[in-house]
Amino acid sequence: MARRIIVTGGAGYIGSHVCVELLRAGGKALVIDNFANSSPKALERIRDIAGAGAELLRADLADANDAARIIDAVKAFRPDGAVHLAGLKAVGESVAEPVRYYSVNLPATFTLIRALEAANARMIVFSSSATVYGDLNASPVDETGAVGPTNPYGRTKLFIEEMLNDLARADARWKICNLRYFNPVGADPSGRIGEDPNGVPNNLFPFIAQVAVGRLPRLKIYGDDYPTRDGTGVRDYIHVCDLAAGHVAALDYLAREKAPGAQCFNLGAGKGISVLEAIAAFKRASNRDIPHEIAPRRAGDIAEIYAKPDRAQKLLGWRATRTLDDMCADHWRWQSENPNGYQD
Ligand code: UDP
Repeated sequence: MARRIIVTGGAGYIGSHVCVELLRAGGKALVIDNFANSSPKALERIRDIAGAGAELLRADLADANDAARIIDAVKAFRPDGAVHLAGLKAVGESVAEPVRYYSVNLPATFTLIRALEAANARMIVFSSSATVYGDLNASPVDETGAVGPTNPYGRTKLFIEEMLNDLARADARWKICNLRYFNPVGADPSGRIGEDPNGVPNNLFPFIAQVAVGRLPRLKIYGDDYPTRDGTGVRDYIHVCDLAAGHVAALDYLAREKAPGAQCFNLGAGKGISVLEAIAAFKRASNRDIPHEIAPRRAGDIAEIYAKPDRAQKLLGWRATRTLDDMCADHWRWQSENPNGYQD
């Protein structure tokens, strides 16, 4: 199976867990990261957890000045393919600075494609997002659902998916999996790697975790008047280790299928969880209070979305197995043992 893998953004939250999963499966990784939103310490921790099989190239895939160096390093690594996670990912920021989002996320992908062409390794597992569905579908949503992202970040994900689809249509040597992530949470059970957002977290779980550890005073629940079972927003939270295993399953699938072309898979747990349910579960796992208050809805939020993950189960032989309690316990272990993330 595919064993030598370029991991762009491999020091980030999801990337670090993908590296661990790859190494545990006997593979090797070349991480390409500029540490714009990640820490070199993650690489040390990956080595502690899973051995020395992850090399690092510190470079910016979106910077034309780095392209030649990246292409040379990728060729020298002799990869089987790539997991492509590098990119900007904050929804709100993308609304305020759309051109920055397009001018990072798209060119980073162009450079990766050129490098893989040069290395004759035409295989990409791409980090897409359920945000491509926007609010057009009733849940559970499957991969035939209508797409219509509601912000520039989501549009970069959709455009890259479409570009990779075109690439596979134009040249049958390309093998592509677009993985549409639902809401990744949790951490490796070692507590050594996890999510370490820059500044105040936007996402629910890192925010709850920082309240539980005393770094933030209280959580704002963005709306309790949605048409959901308790009025709060419902999402499909998936343990980041399950998500990471989905990438290895996707690489195995692409390596084993003769003509997979470009494929798209939801990676979710297939279960909707409300904000109040998430808070209650985190409280149980951490044994800490999570002070919270009801606040107005957040602009651009939708009431409910969760996955129908059957296609991944059928074709990749993958499904999420970890529970909400596992997600909370592992997220809490990371947060409580590293209250300031990777900073000392
Ligand atoms: N949420 C919240 N308070 C926060 C952050 C998020 O109530 O501080 C809610 C949000 O409205 C949504 C859910 O938690 O219903 C998940 O939000 P997140 O930003 O983590 O993921 P996304 O909305 O991108 O799916």
